[in-house]
Amino acid sequence: MAIDQAALANDPRLIAIRNFQGKYPSQLWWLFMAEMWERFCFYGMRGVLTVFMIQQLAMNKADANLQYGAIQAFVYTMTFVGGFFADKFLGFRRSIVWGGLLMVVGSFTVAAAPNSLFYIGTSISIVGTGFFKPNISGVVGLLYRDGDNRRDAGFALFYSGINIGAALGGFLCVYLGKAYGWEWAFASAGIAMLIGVAMFGMTARTLGPLGFSPLVPEGTVATPAARNKILGVYAGSLLSIPLILLLVSNSQYTDWFMYLVGPLALIYFLYDMRTCTRVEIQKLLAALVFIIFSIFFWAFFEQSGGSLAIVAEYHIKPAQVLGARIDPIEVNNTSNSIFVILLSPLVGLLWLKMRSKEPNTVVKFGLGFFFLAGGFYLFQSLIRYAGEDGISSLWIFTFAWLVTTIGELCLSPIGLSAMTRLAPQRMFGIIMGLWFLASAYGQYLAGLLGAGMAQVEETAPPLTKLAGYTDGYWQLTIYALICGALLMVISPLVRKLMHDEK
Ligand code: GLN
Repeated sequence: MAIDQAALANDPRLIAIRNFQGKYPSQLWWLFMAEMWERFCFYGMRGVLTVFMIQQLAMNKADANLQYGAIQAFVYTMTFVGGFFADKFLGFRRSIVWGGLLMVVGSFTVAAAPNSLFYIGTSISIVGTGFFKPNISGVVGLLYRDGDNRRDAGFALFYSGINIGAALGGFLCVYLGKAYGWEWAFASAGIAMLIGVAMFGMTARTLGPLGFSPLVPEGTVATPAARNKILGVYAGSLLSIPLILLLVSNSQYTDWFMYLVGPLALIYFLYDMRTCTRVEIQKLLAALVFIIFSIFFWAFFEQSGGSLAIVAEYHIKPAQVLGARIDPIEVNNTSNSIFVILLSPLVGLLWLKMRSKEPNTVVKFGLGFFFLAGGFYLFQSLIRYAGEDGISSLWIFTFAWLVTTIGELCLSPIGLSAMTRLAPQRMFGIIMGLWFLASAYGQYLAGLLGAGMAQVEETAPPLTKLAGYTDGYWQLTIYALICGALLMVISPLVRKLMHDEK
């Protein structure tokens, strides 16, 4: 049995959802809040990872960087798996609840004994995020009918929710970890996730006919075969946890995994296209161009949790503002999100003001890379403001984050929205999975880049250590400029593939 797409499109409840008045569908606010708590959990855990591994697991900085990159890469790899199983077996609703519950269990597992259960708890959370993250974004896309030009604004709002959660989690978990012990950091992440999953569960009915399993359409009882398949997915995801654990705790396996998984996912995606029309295929190829470029964007941007976290912790001077001490690591973990929250409406307004001159998606992506280059130029310039002690300015560091964030706003929410504009609905899970899989490769490359920068001897003078990082940032500046220029050059071709989509 499959969902009858034509009947679904004519369902009066769906028509009512999609014919919403005003700027946003009301369901978006619930998704906004569920995702906000999920991101609180995710960024809370992520914010403490590198420092936790160095201070509690006694890792050296290069290893911590690699390990951080591997963990993040696995998280985002699992999103492809989660998106695939949502499209084919579970549907969005079940996937989101299942993923959320796994994240709750994962966070509390680490909280129970941070030093000994760190890897197992993290592995559970990795699988959980894979089921939650791509699918909640997919549901946002489902709220819009084709051609509704309010979609970008919806994703911009959703992106603010992501970042409110990220800012609160990044701040609170690091604060709790440092002030009261790491178990509190991880426990607070678990509580946040519990709120997120409960929120989704309680409001899922507002989604009307959306998000049901293709094997068990709404209002039907699962056949034994369908039930077995669904239970099989749950069991399979639990069984994958020891495998993830093995892969995460041995970074040499990560390389093999990453070499394999991307090409396999791509082959599967191309195979899945066999049922698509010519226009659908061209649009999906345009989506693929965005996905490929986003790998590079995230590889640079995601220095945030690795090398930039180390620069913040060891090379930036804390500041006093109104008598309060501002910890650079907190700035590193939260300023990006705060800037997203503040700037996202402004950037939205700017696009609206530009009206017919509003840049198309390809040009926005190009701008994203130019701002990223500007941000890394500023991170690179930290060396010029550093003393002999290798300690540099928090203000330059924060300003660099501001510029980098403008780049993110030109690329990340726009990319999410474009995925759901360019893919047919039955492929929303898999296209979102691929979009985040690109982040996995970005994260993986970010770890390698960061480890390269941390190669300077531990005994080297502080200024030399800082230069290791800033020289790296200079190279990233150049590469980001090249990517931006390339996008501008191929823009007409990609627009053709998009079939005049904005
Ligand atoms: N910061 C965004 C989020 O957490 C984007 C992450 C990504 O795609 N790498 O959703």
